[in-house]
Amino acid sequence: MIRVFVLSALVCVAAFTVRAEVPLTLTGNAVEGGLMFGKTNPDSYVAFEKKPVEVSANGDFLISFGRDSAGTRELTIFTPGDARVELIEVADRDFKIERIDGLPKRKVTPDPKAIARIGKEKKEINAARQETDAVPYYLGGLQWPAMGRISGVYGSQRILNGKPRRPHYGTDIAAPTGTPIRAVAPGRVAFVHTGMFFNGKTVLIDHGLGLRSIYIHLSETFVTAGQQVDLNTKIGAIGQTGRATGPHLHFGMTHDTTPVDPEVVLGPMPN
Ligand SMILES: [Zn+2]
Repeated sequence: MIRVFVLSALVCVAAFTVRAEVPLTLTGNAVEGGLMFGKTNPDSYVAFEKKPVEVSANGDFLISFGRDSAGTRELTIFTPGDARVELIEVADRDFKIERIDGLPKRKVTPDPKAIARIGKEKKEINAARQETDAVPYYLGGLQWPAMGRISGVYGSQRILNGKPRRPHYGTDIAAPTGTPIRAVAPGRVAFVHTGMFFNGKTVLIDHGLGLRSIYIHLSETFVTAGQQVDLNTKIGAIGQTGRATGPHLHFGMTHDTTPVDPEVVLGPMPN
């Protein structure tokens, strides 16, 4: 795994003028699929690539880098009477190509009835993604939600029964059906579904400031929408509901609309 963090500061020196620099701390990984945890003055306006970034009452914020985001990215912080610009070099990564054959044809090329159902489910889950709490629940800690063999990685291009599909935006953790799943971080349950076409039993959690996690193919769900969870809450159990060829947890993390790589955000899974 590539773990690169390059942060080049753009320093403006004005002769005979002493300016208190806008405070900023930034931790995490500036790499494709990475996430960075920022903190600045609470009364700041923060923009990343010229788009507004939500800032908590304590000055916490997040920025993220998509699968194909390598290059120089601009973070700007405006506080009353001052501004700071950071240029962030996002490192490139290579993603693998994954071929999966032998899936039931109707799960690869859905029939019209299935397409209608998939569309309805997509609307439901997207509605749950419209809101995020302005509270950085994720500061309560991050953990792997379940342990097991990593059977699928973030960013891989999947070819299902010979047909190219969107990249795989998550980490697959293979473990026996019934293995308990805990939330990756404290948060608020945003969505629970008992049987989506592709995802099967699904839980979506909001960790604040646009950070979300999703858990799919579950055999059981133990939480309800609106419920607050912490690191100890059992939210569900591993299964193979929906489009899955064996019992595993598909675990995804997103920041706003950007899928990020759990293996980059959490680091290697402990043994
Ligand atoms: Zn998966």
